[in-house]
Amino acid sequence: MSKASLVGCVLILGCGEAPPLAKVAAPGMCVDTGADAGVFVDVAPVASLPIASNDGGAVTAMPSWMSAALESTSPYDVARSLSDEVGPRLAGSEGDARAVAWGVRTMNAMGFANVHTEPVMVPVWKRGAESAELVSPSHQPLAVTALGWSGSTPKGGVTAEVMEVDTVLALTNLPKDAAKGKIVFANVVMPRANDGTGYGAAVPARAMGPTAAMTAGAVAFIVRSVTPNTDRFPHTGAAALRAVKNPIPAAAISTADADLLARTLAKSPNAKVHLALQSEHPKDAESANVVGEIPGVEKKDEIVLLGAHLDAWDIGRGALDDGAGVGIVMAAAQTVQTRARAEGKAGPGRTVRVVLFAAEENSVSGGKAYAAAHRAQASSYVLAMEADSGTERAMFARFIGDDAGKLTFASVVKGLAPLGIMQNDGQAHAGTDVGSMVEAGVPTIDLRQDATRYFDVHHTAADTADKLDARALAQVSAGFAHVVYEACDPRVSFGRAPQKKSE
Ligand SMILES: [Zn+2]
Repeated sequence: MSKASLVGCVLILGCGEAPPLAKVAAPGMCVDTGADAGVFVDVAPVASLPIASNDGGAVTAMPSWMSAALESTSPYDVARSLSDEVGPRLAGSEGDARAVAWGVRTMNAMGFANVHTEPVMVPVWKRGAESAELVSPSHQPLAVTALGWSGSTPKGGVTAEVMEVDTVLALTNLPKDAAKGKIVFANVVMPRANDGTGYGAAVPARAMGPTAAMTAGAVAFIVRSVTPNTDRFPHTGAAALRAVKNPIPAAAISTADADLLARTLAKSPNAKVHLALQSEHPKDAESANVVGEIPGVEKKDEIVLLGAHLDAWDIGRGALDDGAGVGIVMAAAQTVQTRARAEGKAGPGRTVRVVLFAAEENSVSGGKAYAAAHRAQASSYVLAMEADSGTERAMFARFIGDDAGKLTFASVVKGLAPLGIMQNDGQAHAGTDVGSMVEAGVPTIDLRQDATRYFDVHHTAADTADKLDARALAQVSAGFAHVVYEACDPRVSFGRAPQKKSE
């Protein structure tokens, strides 16, 4: 069976290329080998497994559109194209402008309608030279990268003693002047978890640590990279310094270097580190959210919103974060259209709107601008979903909405059983970009991907297209396509989400 004949494949993106199909893992079946934590144990693809439906017992047959979607390389092709052909694209950069052009071009090539950009003013932060080393009692260059919104050190850098803090609580409770003249070192270990909770536990050290260090009188701040992995890649990410006048120099060091520094400090409490960071904070620039639609044929003014973010950190190529999400949602919309046509319709009942958001990483400006422009029409949005969790398979689905909507959710999720995706009643996460629309009352389904490995390369120079898993991306995209297709049925309602006050 020809892969290219199946799901509206996009010739311009190179469907003929062989995607990396070797890495296959079913949900929960990844095995960490320790010696090489990046290796998946080869298991049967989900499509070949008989899977019980979640109403207990009966085996759910896989519909033919879903089998075809699982074979599609479209999510991979799109993600690879964005990562390889655009690359780094931090908000307001030249790469960001190229990403917007790529988004318009690719949506047009994939047959989206009403393709357009919606301008967004984005704040700009620019990385300069950066280096760090342990200078006493021994000498060791440290793998370092500045955090977004970091300030600069004096030209020659700073050399200072280090004050280690190993919990978020201790960091945020640092007394005034407790670190006067020192470099605060937040050494908070991120636990490995399949649902992303490890990140939630550790990331406040990166986000809030720099301001806590400033209050404590520190001359600089370094954080253990927010990752469960042990290697020598530093992980960048935003620090809450954007609105701070004269922000402290703030950087992440690799986990291997953080461990070395902690061992050194245990023996030599007066150990010194030299840190040199230069960065710029130019004035705001114009970027854009890129929007395209699969128009509804029955109720075209009723919208199912699919989001991912177009920007990516400057030190990597944004393959997993969030090229993968861009591929997942664009291919899912395409699958919805293909399926509608296969069922003899001109298109889905309601309109599928895909939005590739600007500036998620440095400010969420794109998501906020979209909500500011469209919040008044929130009642015509049936459902919002976002893909921003990398390249691994979806494991379960969660919901934010009302009790009536939850019944619809439960019924729709049953159709995900052939993909190995089950209902889960835990705390759902509205995607960062669509979050403001969810707060305006739009229900969301959180299709939770396996995050066991996502944070290994997240926000690093190693976020490159070789990490993309075409099979897993196809599974996630098929899951999105199923939910979106059902949500496009004008008889289907997910109710409303609890509204929060707008900012
Ligand atoms: Zn992201």
